[in-house]
Amino acid sequence: MQKLCEKPLKLLKLEALSRRLTTDHPKQEKIRNDLRKVRTGFNGERSIGNELNDLPKEYQVLHDLRLCHDGSRFFQMDFLLVSRKYCIIIEVKNFAGLLYFDRTYPQLIRTKDGQEQAYLDPLIQVDVQKSRLKNWLTFHNFPLLPIETLIANANSNTIVRTTPGFAPIFKKITGKETLISKIQALEEKYPSEQLTQRQRNKLSNTILQKNIPHNPNILQWYQIDETDLLKSVQCPECAAFQMQYHWGKWSCCQCTCASKNAHIQSLRDYALLINPRITNKQARLFLQIDSIDIMQRMLSALELPYLGQFKNRVYSLDGLIHE
Ligand SMILES: [Zn+2]
Repeated sequence: MQKLCEKPLKLLKLEALSRRLTTDHPKQEKIRNDLRKVRTGFNGERSIGNELNDLPKEYQVLHDLRLCHDGSRFFQMDFLLVSRKYCIIIEVKNFAGLLYFDRTYPQLIRTKDGQEQAYLDPLIQVDVQKSRLKNWLTFHNFPLLPIETLIANANSNTIVRTTPGFAPIFKKITGKETLISKIQALEEKYPSEQLTQRQRNKLSNTILQKNIPHNPNILQWYQIDETDLLKSVQCPECAAFQMQYHWGKWSCCQCTCASKNAHIQSLRDYALLINPRITNKQARLFLQIDSIDIMQRMLSALELPYLGQFKNRVYSLDGLIHE
């Protein structure tokens, strides 16, 4: 059982929002910048996730967790590895350049292209995650499993240094290439099993059940009005919103590309940006289709779960959200 590295909702929503706004929309530049950052973060996590695939089966690898630690506040972990002996929180970073972990005044200083920039010390960040995970385990009546922490830098173009005398922190900092060997070194500290197989499975399952992915209302977040969104169906080849539906397929007026399924992307965009529930009428407005019957056939063909009958039928688009 693994929680695979699927794109987080925030990334899917930013992608959908960017393509549904005109290139000269006043918020487009900010959205594209944010999208770049979120995408870089996700690519880093995915490359670390690929390395973790090489771990033996006794580790359960959980990705992108967001758990509630005190009734209302959440903490996030990029990866949590759960074994019967201990667990490891992995925080993924994407730093290029020279990284200096300053231990006299705890902060991370990154030097790149002659520019210095200070960041919150990731070692402090993982310590906070660790204490919150401890609280979470206690609250859910799990035995207190030992918790290790690792900072994994997905970018290979890095040199890492620290204040003289603090070299032991390198046990907690790793690149992609040394990730598995660092985990193996940690493992030696915990020879005895703390959980039965059954308890370990129960722990992983509870974590996945209690995981509440960050799901921002993206229009509200950027203060964008629904009427600003581009309607109709986007061409999968040239990205123009100029697809026409004739005889059971979509054709692009711009590049003559033809597609039978181009509307699925539009319904996904609707789910991500407006509402994961849709009626025939709302779908016609968004996809710019005139015929109730054609829309009805399209929605039925997708075999979406629905509530209500005939005109009042509301289809659930949840199943379309993750490609
Ligand atoms: Zn086209």
